[in-house]
Formats: sequence, structure tokens, C-alpha cells
Amino acid sequence: MGSQPKTESHPNLWPPFTQIGSSPPQQRIRSGKGALLHREGAPPLIDAISSWWVTLHGHSHPVLADAIAKQARTLEQVIFADFCHQPAERLAERLSKLTGLERLFFSDNGSTAVEVALKIACQWWHNRDEPRHQIIAFDGAYHGDTFGAMAVGERNLFSAPYNDKLFPVARVPWPATWWGDATVEDREHNALSVLERCLETPTAAVILEPLLQGAGGMSMVRPHFLKQVEHRVRQAGALLIADEVLTGFGRCGDWFASRRAELKPDLIALSKGLTGGCLPMGVTMASERVFGAFIGVDPQLTFWHGHSFTANPLGCAAANASLDLLEADPSQFLGFEQRHRPHLQALASHPRVQRPRLIGTLAAFDLVVGGTAGYLNPAGPTVKRIAMNHGVFLRPLGQVVYLLPPLCISDAQLECCYDAITKALDQL
Ligand SMILES: *Cc1c(COP(=O)(O)O)cnc(C)c1O
Repeated sequence: MGSQPKTESHPNLWPPFTQIGSSPPQQRIRSGKGALLHREGAPPLIDAISSWWVTLHGHSHPVLADAIAKQARTLEQVIFADFCHQPAERLAERLSKLTGLERLFFSDNGSTAVEVALKIACQWWHNRDEPRHQIIAFDGAYHGDTFGAMAVGERNLFSAPYNDKLFPVARVPWPATWWGDATVEDREHNALSVLERCLETPTAAVILEPLLQGAGGMSMVRPHFLKQVEHRVRQAGALLIADEVLTGFGRCGDWFASRRAELKPDLIALSKGLTGGCLPMGVTMASERVFGAFIGVDPQLTFWHGHSFTANPLGCAAANASLDLLEADPSQFLGFEQRHRPHLQALASHPRVQRPRLIGTLAAFDLVVGGTAGYLNPAGPTVKRIAMNHGVFLRPLGQVVYLLPPLCISDAQLECCYDAITKALDQL
């Protein structure tokens, strides 16, 4: 095997989100360093999407690697029901301060962080003896691939085989906006009136991705809209769940998107960048007010939920080290928008580019394409292939092309990404 590039997929692996029958085989990665992925038998690639939006500080970061190695020699895992440990306590204290939500519940990934938030919200009403059943979510939402997370996400190609198993959810339009958008106010107005109508039914919780919907097409809303949503949710007495699995940890140009939009959610789901993208971990932050309804001598009040690897010490150590790196230089994420801006401005006049948009570390636009827009539009794979030939790894969502690089990407590497996109657009 050695360093020969692979031409077939491995007979014992089943890769995610991949149709083996029509996709090129997975490429074997030998190592990663900073923004670069080193392949076997091929030149390195710039990881322009942070390996599915997780890699925050770059690959194989020495500070994260050392923190994990040190923790592995001290305590690798312990049952978290009876025991606690310093890395978990430290992480909980820090995330409480950063989010303004006092209680941290651990799980293993973004989907479970969302599941936990939904279960807490439902049981909160149950424990107070005022059961409320309705959940409200937004069109285009993506909250993960487990059943509860799928139920609140947009029903689409991915959820179709399971739709009969998914609980019903009330839907509100998502008034996405972009540079030069002239109709946003009308669409916001419409979304708010749909929300008001939905809230006439007693509602347990409203779940949203603050400022930026990720997998649904990198679509952004204005902070002002979210403030209006929050106001109505409060009036109806429902809980507000912010799914910040993608937007957390600087991705939207502030520590959290809800902070940038000045929202005060009751529950926040976090994962992806939590451990700097090194280890799988999810957390759900909850307010003391929410937590309070679960305390008492009656066993029925208990939140009967937990995962084998709850508060894995290696994950906690990585998360603490990642927070150290972010705290040492917040300008890395606070200033990232300014690094994208001139490049995206230059791209915006290209005849193949529409709806350019930018927030924090994420820049996106829609391709002007024939055929139906959506995840299966063939223009995306074409752009991906051409960019890869120019040393840049992209993974467009249908006709939506975006960059979400790790914070460590150099100016020269970022320029390479935009050059590769321009070349791809010229060849379309
Ligand atoms: C990725 C993502 C999830 C799911 O996280 P997994 O770790 O892939 O389960 C949930 N919500 C949002 C907003 C995401 O981007």
C-alpha cells in the first residue's frame, strides 16, 4: 500500500454522507498541520472548511496535543455519576462565565447536545406540572442526525426514510439575508407573524441556530430579527434553545452567536469547536432557573439521561486548552471578518456569484446555476473538484460555496482559497 493514492473505497468502511456508488474514493490523509492536510501520493490541501467545521486552531496543534497527552497519563476516563474531576469543573466554570448559563450537562457530540436540550425543555414543563408539547423550529434548520435532532431539523432527502417516526414540529420561515438584499424586512415581518400564530398554541421551546444556519445552506439572519423572535418567545413563556454547535467558539466573530445577537437563551447546545475540534464532546448549557425544576426528593424530577463517556477527561482537557488559546488572543476570531471581506467583495462581482454573505470566520455565496437548487445540484461537486486540483479542499452544500477555515490559516493560504474558487468559477 505505502504511499500510493487509493483508487477504491475500503471494503470494511462505510463513510458518512457518501454514496459509494458515485463518489470518488476517500483519500488517505497521512497527517495534518495547521491549515494543511497531507495526503498520500498527492500535494497537500488547505482544509478550507475546518474538516466539517470542527478544527478551530488547525490540525495537530501542539498545545492541544500536549494537554490531551498529559491528561491521558493522569486520568483518561471515570464514571461521572459518582465521581467528578478538575478538568470538568474548570470547563464548567469557564463556560458558565462565557455563556451566562450556570449549569453544564455533558454528552458526546452536537446531535446529543441538541437531544439533551430538547429533553430538558420538555421535562421542565412536565416537572412543573404544566405539560406543554409544542416545539417550534425554523425552515432550513439542521440540528443533527439522531431522531430528536432530525425531528426539529428541516424534513428533506436525508430524513425522508424516517419521516413517519419523527415527532411533529411547528415551522417558521427563516428570513435569510445577504449583501444587497432589498426584501429582508418583508420576509422578517412575515416570519414573525407566522411565529406569533404558532405561539398561540402553548409551546415548550423554540429552537434556532443563532445568526447562521449551517448545513441548511449557510444562511444568515439579522440580529434584529432574532431579538424580535426572542421577545415573542418570552411573551409566550416558552424556552429558547440556541443550537450553537456550529456558531460557538468564535465562529460568528464573537465568543457565541447568541452573544453577538444579544440573546439570552435558556439552553445552549455546543460541540464542534468545543475541544478545538480534537475530540468528540458535546455540552448543553442550562440556566439555574431551568435546572431548579429538576431538584427535589421525588425521583420523577430527575433528568434520567447520561452517556458512557460523560465528561471524558481527555475531551475536557482539550476543551480547556482550546479556551486558553482563544482567550490568549480573541482578535483571532473578532477580526476574522475583516480578513474575508476584501476577498469576498472582489468575488461578489463575478457573474457566477449571487447572494454573497459573511459572518465571522464564514464567507459564503450561491452559485448562479441551471437546474434545481439544492444539495444534489451538480455545480457544487464541479467546484469542489477544480478547487482540489488547485490545492484547496471545499465541500459546497449544493450550489452554496463557502469558506470556514481554521483560525490559524495564513493570509497567503486564505488568498489561495479565494484564487481556487475564482478559477473554479471561471471554468464552470
Ligand atoms: C453539526 C451540527 C449538529 C450536529 O452535530 P454532530 O456532532 O454532527 O452530531 C447540530 N447542530 C448544528 C447547528 C450543527 O452544525
